[in-house]
Amino acid sequence: MFDNLQDRLGGILDKLRGRGALSEADVGEAMREVRRALLEADVALDVVRGFTDRVRERAVGAEVLKSVKPGQMVVKIVHDELVATLGSDAQSISLAAAAPVPILMVGLQGSGKTTTTAKIAKRMQDRDKRKVLMASLDTRRPAAMEQLAILGTQVGVATLPIVAGQSAVQIAQRAMQAGRLGGYDVVMLDTAGRTTVDEALMAEAAEVKRVANPHEILLVADALTGQDAVQTARAFDGALGVTGIVLTRVDGDGRGGAALSMRAVTGKPIKLIGVGEKMDALEEFDPSRIAGRILGMGDVVALVERAAEQMDAEKAAKTAERMRKGQFDLNDLRDQLMQMQRMGGMSGVMGLLPGMGKMKAQLENANLDDRVLKRQTAIIGSMTAAERRNPDLLKNSRKKRIAAGSGTKVEDINRLLKMHRQMADMMKLMGKGGRGGLASMAGK
Ligand code: GDP
Repeated sequence: MFDNLQDRLGGILDKLRGRGALSEADVGEAMREVRRALLEADVALDVVRGFTDRVRERAVGAEVLKSVKPGQMVVKIVHDELVATLGSDAQSISLAAAAPVPILMVGLQGSGKTTTTAKIAKRMQDRDKRKVLMASLDTRRPAAMEQLAILGTQVGVATLPIVAGQSAVQIAQRAMQAGRLGGYDVVMLDTAGRTTVDEALMAEAAEVKRVANPHEILLVADALTGQDAVQTARAFDGALGVTGIVLTRVDGDGRGGAALSMRAVTGKPIKLIGVGEKMDALEEFDPSRIAGRILGMGDVVALVERAAEQMDAEKAAKTAERMRKGQFDLNDLRDQLMQMQRMGGMSGVMGLLPGMGKMKAQLENANLDDRVLKRQTAIIGSMTAAERRNPDLLKNSRKKRIAAGSGTKVEDINRLLKMHRQMADMMKLMGKGGRGGLASMAGK
């Protein structure tokens, strides 16, 4: 899986990983090679461009951690951007709806739709202990209906009896009714495929969607078709609104272009991947695991993560110390804001803390949602070192310059300064309590 891409990226980053010093030119050269590698892997051009731009920006501005080489830092940045491009969080099929939960399977003929329907049904039945009914709506190809029935027998999942002469909509209605009467948890509707996207195919699927009201609409796409798979997903999403994608034949996909472009181009998550012809050859699509596979440099990534945690801990201790002394300046505030962003923004921080309710209200008052965190970090980033140490320097003309530099307004800067003052005052009041951290002080 993704062997070619792994070879290429691995080769490029291997040249960097041991390097102790990196110039902007080194990073630029590496990114040109990464760009070439991604284009060869058939990743969509826009996605490649966005990817290399973000890596370059972060790599050049990166704060290099103690005990980590700059080259290792770049490997970690590439890894993180790969994860982000692939879609960050693993998303699975949702069954959170009234039973029987209808799932509509759509896609082109030959994409692996019928096989995938049976694989998913088997998995839900064996692993999730759901009672599943499958129905083929492919009225034009009796062989397709029989294929689903055979696979059903093979994996021990019930299929709706075939009744000749019914339309796709009638079969869908019959399947839902059988699902209700038979006490099924899930009804999987395998729609007809065509060799290309056409209006009749979409109209029929839309009609089935209307009567079955599916909780998930999964598009099955063949990874080997690269950017065509992505365009197919776009077309189906435009016509039907898909909730997720299943990428098949990933086992034979050395390039990875479809997997890497899918999320960025369609905005829809890849939920599962098919990795073989066997009925159990289905895996969750886990972006960080896939990125790890593509890079094959898990050791470096883990090393940098540990170093970053270490640095956060050291910084937090330093900040706490400064707070105790009443020296909380804008540099400290920026460290705090950045740390909060790394922890997954406000929502991430809140999830980690006890007494969340009260804190949530306070932070909402302070208007600290995730966008605000980014904006505030940018404001402080546009200040000079002297201004950060001594906010009293910030008179109107300086505020205007900072607003222009950070793409904000003077009011935003005033709001930030007010928040900083309030925090600094509060810290002085708390005196030697000092557990440190914005989170703990805003909380309890
Ligand atoms: P449909 O026309 O979209 O319903 O496609 P089928 O389900 O009939 O699949 C077409 C062929 O692709 C079959 O031979 C499947 O065994 C094969 N296939 C499906 N998924 C995968 C996969 O993830 N990996 C591999 N290697 N083959 C697959």
